[in-house]
Amino acid sequence: MTFESLGLAPALLRALSEQGYTSPTPIQVQAIPLVLAGHDLLGGAQTGTGKTAAFGLPLLNRLSKQTAPNASRKPRALILVPTRELAVQVNDSLRGYAKHLRMNFCAIFGGAGMGPQVETLRRGVDVLVATPGRLIDHMERGTVKLDEIEVLVLDEADRMLDMGFLPAIKRILGRVPAQRQTLLFSATFESQLKQLALQFMRDPKQVQVAANNTIAQTISHVAHPVDAGRKRDLLIEIIAKRPADQVLVFGRTKHGCNRLVEQLDAAGLRSVAIHGNKSQAQRQKALRDFKGNRARVLVATDVAARGLDIPDLPLVINFDLPMVAEDYVHRIGRTGRNGSTGEALSLVSHDEGGLLRQIQHVLKKDVEMVVVPGYEPSRPIRLDVAIPNPRNNAGAGRPPRNNAPRGGARPHGQPAPRHAHAGQRQRAGAPAGRGGGRGSFRDGSIA
Ligand code: AMP
Repeated sequence: MTFESLGLAPALLRALSEQGYTSPTPIQVQAIPLVLAGHDLLGGAQTGTGKTAAFGLPLLNRLSKQTAPNASRKPRALILVPTRELAVQVNDSLRGYAKHLRMNFCAIFGGAGMGPQVETLRRGVDVLVATPGRLIDHMERGTVKLDEIEVLVLDEADRMLDMGFLPAIKRILGRVPAQRQTLLFSATFESQLKQLALQFMRDPKQVQVAANNTIAQTISHVAHPVDAGRKRDLLIEIIAKRPADQVLVFGRTKHGCNRLVEQLDAAGLRSVAIHGNKSQAQRQKALRDFKGNRARVLVATDVAARGLDIPDLPLVINFDLPMVAEDYVHRIGRTGRNGSTGEALSLVSHDEGGLLRQIQHVLKKDVEMVVVPGYEPSRPIRLDVAIPNPRNNAGAGRPPRNNAPRGGARPHGQPAPRHAHAGQRQRAGAPAGRGGGRGSFRDGSIA
């Protein structure tokens, strides 16, 4: 399959070949013809699958067919995204694809000054990429008009709902013309999202790619049981033993991530953090430093890491287990891409046994437990413990509150040659029933 055979305009084909794209990815093969034919589309895909081009190319193709100049200077395509990083990334990608077209682009997102955004909008925009909150700000000030939108894209729609953007999205939907093409991309399609899609889409076609949703078989999953207060030392030891590798570490809280960066730096492991309390400039610098190998470790929260275009990494470490098991899949999607091998290590403290159970449920297999000598947990990890209340457990190095001893899983040993730091292996104890679902945990404070 080639991009030519998908029926894209020559100006787009030229840009693609200049960027070294030789053939379309599976989501592009499926989505591009449907979008070109004018259908609404539900796309099941996440970052790394090439979804931006899957909606971006046919969208640009459609806009490029209009020969009349955009006299009103109002945007004709709107792409809603959950985070600033994704806004910048999508905007940059689309600009690249439209290199040989005469089109104006604008990315608007919070955490940056309104002034330059207002000025760009005033000069005239064809394609607008926006986070919902900031777009509402502009709508209220009257600095953007959405009455000429022809194509609306909701990118990472599940994440936007998780982040509480539903009311904002509904308001925005009330301002775009009913006569439009709507494309919705999401890694998951839960009922709230399906309902929303039913309400505002017209007979959507559906495409789905497994890619990052299915867990690469080349990734090994290992959990190290460890006391919460010793996680930091274990993390430093693991990273220090692999001087050649860049590592992505996930923490649960912003403050926890900051603390970890300080501690890793103090141990001589140059680190940067990326989370919701960082300014746009700080986030971009952190990402640049990591991509440029000036930092060995990137410490991130789930929400901030979402959508970041990070190259394939050999190792992802879960310093804290994610509160939502699906996030584990997103986290480890940063390793083991395209057939390369990858490792996902999770540091699991006593209070996180229930979260590990959820993860095993999503993975549909047990995660191997490996006790690292010198870091034997003072209490065994039990998978049948309740999921912790995130507000009581700030994670990232803070010991759990409840110190009451509990009996439970029994380590039994076998040598573990694959990991230099590994000692005893323990099959995770019998899972108690199904994972506990998404729970109630989602608020901006942890982003
Ligand atoms: P996305 O899933 O849209 O975030 O894309 C992930 C990465 O794949 C980005 O760096 C894109 O530039 C790249 N990409 C997308 N489509 C293709 C393609 N057909 N060939 C090569 N690279 C691609």
